[in-house]
Amino acid sequence: MTAARRRELEEIFGADRVEDTPITRRLYSQDLTALSLVDRRHSADEALPDAVVWPETVHEVSRLLRWASEGKVPVVTYGGGTSLRAATMPSTGAIVCDMKRMKRVTRMDENSMIVTAEAGILGEALQHELRLVGLTLGHFPPAFYGSTLGGFLATRSAGSLSTRYGPIEDMVISLQAVLPDGSIVKTRTAPRSATGPDFNHVFLGSQGTLGIITRASLRCRMAPATRTFAAYKFADWNDGVTAMRLMMRKGLLPAAVRYSDPPETARTFARMEDEPDGNVLVLVFEGHDRRALLEASIAAEIALSCHCTQLGEEAARHWFDHRFAEAYRRSPVLAEDGAYMEVIDTAATWSRLPTLIASLRDALAGEGRQVSLYVANASSVGASVCLTVQGHTPAGEEGKTLQAIWTAALSTIRQGGGTVSYRQGIGPWQIDALKEELGVGYDLLRDMKRQIDPNGIMNPGAFGFDRTS
Ligand SMILES: Cc1cc2nc3c(=O)[nH]c(=O)nc-3n(C[C@H](O)[C@H](O)[C@H](O)COP(=O)(O)OP(=O)(O)OC[C@H]3O[C@@H](n4cnc5c(N)ncnc54)[C@H](O)[C@@H]3O)c2cc1C
Repeated sequence: MTAARRRELEEIFGADRVEDTPITRRLYSQDLTALSLVDRRHSADEALPDAVVWPETVHEVSRLLRWASEGKVPVVTYGGGTSLRAATMPSTGAIVCDMKRMKRVTRMDENSMIVTAEAGILGEALQHELRLVGLTLGHFPPAFYGSTLGGFLATRSAGSLSTRYGPIEDMVISLQAVLPDGSIVKTRTAPRSATGPDFNHVFLGSQGTLGIITRASLRCRMAPATRTFAAYKFADWNDGVTAMRLMMRKGLLPAAVRYSDPPETARTFARMEDEPDGNVLVLVFEGHDRRALLEASIAAEIALSCHCTQLGEEAARHWFDHRFAEAYRRSPVLAEDGAYMEVIDTAATWSRLPTLIASLRDALAGEGRQVSLYVANASSVGASVCLTVQGHTPAGEEGKTLQAIWTAALSTIRQGGGTVSYRQGIGPWQIDALKEELGVGYDLLRDMKRQIDPNGIMNPGAFGFDRTS
């Protein structure tokens, strides 16, 4: 970065909140995307940002974006950097805007059960503040300890208890964001509104391409008074899927409903003393004590009518207590040369789900490779499927292998009527599939991007929009 540019950034942030040391630039050139992590084992090529800045106020964000638009400098917004879809990977010369110093809870409206917080707050910190007043957001994705509110919103995140509490878009009431020209937009905090389209949704899932979300107000729930656990084992995989569907159809609202196949069960419960095996359905009900117990007993009747064995509470408790460990189980695998591991997610309606799952298993099977999966985030309409593909390949071939896995997965998802991404957003290798899924909507999205960000400064490359498209 030129000395003049650095001085201009220091005028906005002060010298201590602008960093351009090689180590900082390198640290911020990487997120948790498997494809880029394995590529880096064998290649020193990397796009480094010019500098990292840490805003503390919305006005600093506004000044940054006005400055960047005038100089046509790319800006990549950075929350916790836990994206698995290369969503924070900077282009050379970019400024990374790390939001984690904007982390205050600015309002706690306990009467209306609404919390307002700055976008850089970590999921755990926000939950801690809510816990102190007997509330919860109910948003618990596996990387909860390291990811931010802004990241949740910008990727349309869904947590492991979303069956009861909903994905992030169900929680947002209003937000504040800074557009690339520096203007600040705010939506109104009201229980609901029919004042035309919902502008919150312009920013939800936008992956930092349209501006920077600086604050959001979210609906909360009462912290649960009780929690009940149950687990069931199904000899036939499809019986368990049917049980989930029937529970949703009856209007039950388990906090968690997670159904794993034998390899996923082995992985999930590996550290349990008496670990279950086979196809295992875990259920967690929480909330008002009598209602949770009643719902759990109705769920048990449904499960048992679908030919299963009752496993007791322990397996479900174990999953609940260790659910954040899921975020760390890739690390030892990805540290080993030749090893790869990728997480692929989709969602489909109940009518399509069993066939889609069978096709994905066939399409992803390979020698020396393990494919495991679980079904979760259920509703009366359908559910998500999360697959983990893990194996070994000759060193240097990992990237090619992962690309081939993605190609097979995306084509199977398309043919099976699933969505390209249930959560986590869209990586560069998913763009063709995104175009196909959105159809004319993709052109509209590009037009909107041009209109809002004519200089193409915000997260260039994301969604396949380069700076000239
Ligand atoms: C092992 C593992 C498991 C995961 N499982 C899940 C899961 O179950 N469900 C799920 O939803 N996610 C999951 N994720 C993915 C990730 O945690 C989510 O996408 C999370 O929402 C990203 O938040 P972050 O703060 O880390 O965002 P980042 O990774 O820093 O950024 C993600 C995107 O959001 C943009 N962004 C960030 N903050 C802002 C802002 N303030 N304004 C505008 N744009 C912004 C960035 O530019 C980028 O495009 C998982 C990740 C890991 C490592």
